[in-house]
Amino acid sequence: MSRRVYIETYGCQMNEIDSSRMLSLLEAEDFLRASSIAEADLVLLNTCSIREKADQKVRSKLGELRRWKNAREGRIVAVGGCLAQQEGKRLAASAPHVDIVFGTHNISRLPDLLRNAGRVKNTVEVGLSGDTSHWDVLPYLAKGTSSAMVTIMQGCDNYCAYCIVPYVRGREISRGSSEILSEVRQIADRGVREVVLLGQNVNSYGRKEGEISFPMLIRRIARVPGIERVRFITSHPRDLDRETIGLFGELDNLCPHIHLPIQSGSDRILHAMGRGYTRAEYLRKVAALRKTRPGIAFSSDFIVGFPGETEEDFTETLAVMEDVRYDSSFSFRFSPRPSTLAATLPGTVPTEVSGDRLSRLQSLQVRHTREILEACVGREMEVLVEGKSSRDPGMLCGRTPCHKVVNFSPDRERNTPVRLVQVMSAGQHSLSGVEGVPLD
Ligand code: SAM
Ligand code: SF4
Repeated sequence: MSRRVYIETYGCQMNEIDSSRMLSLLEAEDFLRASSIAEADLVLLNTCSIREKADQKVRSKLGELRRWKNAREGRIVAVGGCLAQQEGKRLAASAPHVDIVFGTHNISRLPDLLRNAGRVKNTVEVGLSGDTSHWDVLPYLAKGTSSAMVTIMQGCDNYCAYCIVPYVRGREISRGSSEILSEVRQIADRGVREVVLLGQNVNSYGRKEGEISFPMLIRRIARVPGIERVRFITSHPRDLDRETIGLFGELDNLCPHIHLPIQSGSDRILHAMGRGYTRAEYLRKVAALRKTRPGIAFSSDFIVGFPGETEEDFTETLAVMEDVRYDSSFSFRFSPRPSTLAATLPGTVPTEVSGDRLSRLQSLQVRHTREILEACVGREMEVLVEGKSSRDPGMLCGRTPCHKVVNFSPDRERNTPVRLVQVMSAGQHSLSGVEGVPLD
């Protein structure tokens, strides 16, 4: 009889795609997906350690799993991802009910580790060896998936002062372009219409390996039959070059949206973070993107309360948000992480101060998002359907080329992945509409 696996994924898209690969590996071992922990034989936590909060969430989940594990013989608990990589043996020692701890470079070992789980207790495999064999595993694709992520590189060489990624994901390694293209062709044949290229710093793709450049890679992917939309994440503002900016004017199927994390609007703080660009340089790139593709949408990440951040520095962050008017953004309170330079810096910002700055920044973003969404009302937009709407199962949900979420009442006669939707109203984070004129 097949066993069942329940995977809980924390953190970013890198973890999401790794979880899909784990699912593919486990399917080959005759595991089925469980829809809850209660019906699972194996619980796998794919963890995150980017901020302390993510780290605490996993630890409390592990506590809950102790009872689950002890309630029935043969149940298995496995922990993978960044916290597993960071904590390794310490994690296994603090949670003896965990059977397997495996790191970000040990994903391919999962089937073997599971086979041994009954015999060997508390196995730990967290070598940061640069192993990329998991790239050969096609991520699990549920039937009808219209948008899929494709890994183009792993790790990061930037060592931004606050960031733990280089320590838990290893040095930057780019994947071969022919391998990437072959995966894109395979998923396009299976009905995927949108690919999202994934890397921590996509603009430096292939430089170390002497591969084709990132713009060339995008051009080739954009020509794959069936691929109607191409996106990429994450672009580093320092490395975003003129040729890549030009692609937004060259390729119709490169979506008019870019995630361009600025982190702070203060040059002093950007320098202390080791980001390698100034606010003016960043804004010049934003202007060039807008000139190349009028209407392009922007999103960003911000950190408030970095060591030494003054009220003046923060005011510059607010000003940059006003200047760019992002469609959306993620903002975080600085969280000191082990091994990083910023964790040792003086000038800790008191929690009440960083909390207050965070809420001021987020309120400004709420206003901009609302205004940008309201301006969409009355317009017709192409929506790539991602599935049923969580609000109303009679409605569908999808995204516009600018990455806005749209819930809409479909035309029942139609069954194509891309629909033309008349936007009727705007909410805080999404749009609502009705399917209108047929597209073809
Ligand atoms: N590689 C991407 C980049 O450079 O923009 C992002 C990687 S990280 C997974 C996502 C975001 O988490 C970062 O852009 C940053 O805003 C935030 N982040 C990373 N480390 C952090 C820390 N120690 N405290 C608070 N936020 C952090
Ligand atoms: Fe972290 Fe900086 Fe690398 Fe992004 S570019 S993953 S923030 S070190």
